[in-house]
Amino acid sequence: MSFPGHIAEAPSAGDTSAAPASGAAQARPHLFNHLTVDSYRRSLAAGIDRVASRIAGAERPFTGMSPARLAPEISGIDLDRPLEDPAAALDELEDVYLRDAVYFHHPRYLAHLNCPVVIPALLGEAVLTAVNSSLDTWDQSAGGTLIERRLIDWTAERIGLGPDADGIFTSGGTQSNFQALLLAREEALELAAKNAPTPLERHEILPRLRILTSEASHFSVQKSAKLLGLGRDAVIAVETGPERRMRPAALAREIERCRADDLVVMAVVATAGTTDFGSIDPLPKIADLCRWAGLWFHVDAAYGCGLLVSPTRRHLLDGIERADSVTVDYHKSFFQPVSSSAVLVRDRATLRHATYYADYLNPARMAEQRIPNQVDKSIQTTRRFDALKLWLTLRIMGADAIGSLFDEVVDRAAEAWALLTEDPRFEVVTKSQLSTVVFRYLPADQRGRDLADGANLHAREALAASGEAVVAGTKVDGRHYLKFTLLNPETSLDDIAHVLDLLAGHAGRYVDERLTAELLHRAG
Ligand SMILES: *Cc1c(COP(=O)(O)O)cnc(C)c1O
Repeated sequence: MSFPGHIAEAPSAGDTSAAPASGAAQARPHLFNHLTVDSYRRSLAAGIDRVASRIAGAERPFTGMSPARLAPEISGIDLDRPLEDPAAALDELEDVYLRDAVYFHHPRYLAHLNCPVVIPALLGEAVLTAVNSSLDTWDQSAGGTLIERRLIDWTAERIGLGPDADGIFTSGGTQSNFQALLLAREEALELAAKNAPTPLERHEILPRLRILTSEASHFSVQKSAKLLGLGRDAVIAVETGPERRMRPAALAREIERCRADDLVVMAVVATAGTTDFGSIDPLPKIADLCRWAGLWFHVDAAYGCGLLVSPTRRHLLDGIERADSVTVDYHKSFFQPVSSSAVLVRDRATLRHATYYADYLNPARMAEQRIPNQVDKSIQTTRRFDALKLWLTLRIMGADAIGSLFDEVVDRAAEAWALLTEDPRFEVVTKSQLSTVVFRYLPADQRGRDLADGANLHAREALAASGEAVVAGTKVDGRHYLKFTLLNPETSLDDIAHVLDLLAGHAGRYVDERLTAELLHRAG
């Protein structure tokens, strides 16, 4: 069979009533190619229409759907009986997904570090999935590789990592932290082996490796330690102050203690924006300590990276330029869709620890010929061209516009914090440097105080079940707290005040019911 040489000559594929000249589109109507571009256009436009209607019509961030109610609908679908018709599949999708999805664009979604996304990035997403470049090798991506490299350089420059910096896009902050710690481990093993009075094997050093990070850091540090084959006690939690920032004196103490115990500190992980408190560890002091002790300094800026483009708050990240490695999550504070993240390193040579050559993919001679194969730097092989979303965002909106959006939510969090400090119904924890607010409902009378934990847990669940708003929960010093993570500039202070009223209502009713039940019980 001969294919038409030019797309313009291709028969209209979606129009199945008119028999295509080649018959190929009819035989394989779902395969995306030069014969089916009309069907591609129509199919995606129909999908976009459904999403647009949902976005336009969402009165709440969530319907309150429970897993128990939704699970049977999904398990009842016969996956071995295709519907063939995209419209029918989209109808079904309305019921099993779109209707009850959690909508981050809604101004009363205040829970986790999920941002509303910008349209240039959605455009990028549509393009990148259709072209489907894989960024492992130049011969599967071409320009995509260079665009990704340019964005890595741009990010490294924003951080200030210097002329030898490099990095790679990853699936998220968890993977970025993991890769950074993998590099740190390998560097530490090499160094320890070199410095040992007698030759040491890897397995002799591994159990002695330690990672120092604050008690408010992200759990991916612990997960990484496990994946890296370190011991159970490998992660040492360094004490934080009342603002939930790592205490440099405590860090110095732990470094000394490790030395005294003949342990090897393989990395210090500072957090630039803790997930709960939005607190930024004192980066310059930590950098000083790392330099003094000769330690790998990793900065987890998964959340705080938005400050890199903030027109007013870039200084909050001062000291990050001294890191050996940095995690950034564009899908948190750059308003990018999942996934979009990167790990950056000060010295590109350290990326060699992720390098393997395979004859079938990236033979070593290609590196000698300077063919840019990104797989040489990545722990993934086949890899999405997520960088395109950020590229179009920068080319259409620009960095300042992104930074201004982030600034707005940081301002809003400060206003919400002020509102809460004035509100006798609630107690609020430390003021965030970013956009979280951690607080709890405080029952008015002493008898109710014992019920505070239950009341806060209940308020969060009842609010989510109502779908009126979604907030997060966390624990502080063993007690249950509520948390706002503000990432939507559309969220107004009125929205926040309204959600506080809803929470106080749910919590207050919980306390009243419990106290009444107790009274009745005692009255016998
Ligand atoms: C969210 C977060 C991570 C993990 O990032 P993912 O993209 O969810 O994998 C790591 N560190 C911090 C501080 C975070 O807030």
